Amino acid sequence: MTSAVTIPRHGGTGGKTAVAARARQVVKAYGTGEARVLALDHVDVDIARGRFTAIMGPSGSGKSTLMHCLAGLDTVTGGQIFLDETEITGLKDKKLTRLRRDRIGFVFQAFNLLPTLSALENITLPMDIAGRRPDKEWLDRVVGTVGLAGRLGHRPAELSGGQQQRVAVARALAARPEIIFGDEPTGNLDSRAGAEVLGFLRRSVDELGQTVVMVTHDPAAASYADRVLYLADGRIVDEMEHPTAEAVLDRMLLFSGGNPQTPDFDARGRTS
Ligand code: ADP
Repeated sequence: MTSAVTIPRHGGTGGKTAVAARARQVVKAYGTGEARVLALDHVDVDIARGRFTAIMGPSGSGKSTLMHCLAGLDTVTGGQIFLDETEITGLKDKKLTRLRRDRIGFVFQAFNLLPTLSALENITLPMDIAGRRPDKEWLDRVVGTVGLAGRLGHRPAELSGGQQQRVAVARALAARPEIIFGDEPTGNLDSRAGAEVLGFLRRSVDELGQTVVMVTHDPAAASYADRVLYLADGRIVDEMEHPTAEAVLDRMLLFSGGNPQTPDFDARGRTS
């Protein structure tokens, strides 16, 4: 296996601290009075640098909210979020927008590629917008890692769903962000294409030293992670190191009362 690359990352301490992001007593409430929902209930979490963390839990447990708060896509009601040594809670919009652009990468369920641009243009777009010149050596390495070398001139419509998501992963990796957040990144892919994309995220951690946080419902997807955090009712209720798909599924069945037919998970551990 190739050793992790030591090219410094952008922002913060350049990726020197062991914890890439942390939440401290984070509360997120929606609505008021009777309609008030506590989506996050005093969450403390450390996201280790250079590792792959999966966030799991039933629908409505707060997974997306936690990810959005950690990524500065949503504000918190209380508590603090830090990216490296920077407290992002309380940052004004303009600074937050710049921090997200310069220091965070995103991979969403919808690939969010621009249809008129080639794969390569899509990959370098965020850097072009930021006025940053892509590092050629790094770009080649990223493109190689996600297996896109022969397809860089293709437009999204000329690529399969799996290939489009690989472009989205390459776009996230190319800017060398401190963290990549994925919200169900394989949710729109069949299992083979999903496995490929997860394999590339895994390689980005092992070979490029990337930090990845992924929300997923899928035990097979979670098994690519180093650590799984389980949310229930807005709290982190458990975690698992070195997960296997079987162990994750067992854990989910335990939370759903041992009944695989509960609404959140079917017998294969996928959401209904
Ligand atoms: P998950 O990602 O685990 O499915 P979410 O983070 O989407 O859970 O939601 C957590 C809770 O917060 C749920 O009860 C959900 O209904 C509520 N919630 C999420 N977003 C909003 C919103 N924009 N307005 C009101 N309630 C919301």
